[in-house]
Amino acid sequence: MAEYEQMLAANEEWAKSFPGSKPVAPGRKTAVVACMDSRIPLFGVLGLAVGDAHVIRNAGGVITEDTIRSLTISQHVLGTREIVLVHHTDCGLQKTDDAGLADLVEQATGHRPPWAARTFTDVDADVRESIRLLNESPYLLSKDICGTVYDVETGRLRQVEP
Ligand SMILES: [Zn+2]
Repeated sequence: MAEYEQMLAANEEWAKSFPGSKPVAPGRKTAVVACMDSRIPLFGVLGLAVGDAHVIRNAGGVITEDTIRSLTISQHVLGTREIVLVHHTDCGLQKTDDAGLADLVEQATGHRPPWAARTFTDVDADVRESIRLLNESPYLLSKDICGTVYDVETGRLRQVEP
């Protein structure tokens, strides 16, 4: 059975206890920006329920033009005010570097990506860089930001001092 078939079957079960529709504006007025890592089950990690928060994920949980696009909509249209960043230990982005990834893609496909992978070595420094980029953005209404690092070995979240 393909993974997607198992997922569709799992959804049949899950929908049986679905809590029902919620308002489109997140109830806890929060947007989470997190890495796409498969070991971070954000709803459990942060105690979130359906309808509580926006969740914006990408490789590294980095602040890109598209992250800003989503946060701008989140704040201006859907009323969120707090931003929680979730980076983590043992991130895939620590396993390569920007030039190395571009080389890898170019060798495999013949095309060098025009964007940077945004790799990093120091996770705390990367969280602070994300906070800096958010603070520099002129489009956001609120810059109430909490940066964190999730430990994939213990399940614990640690706040990063700005
Ligand atoms: Zn990651």
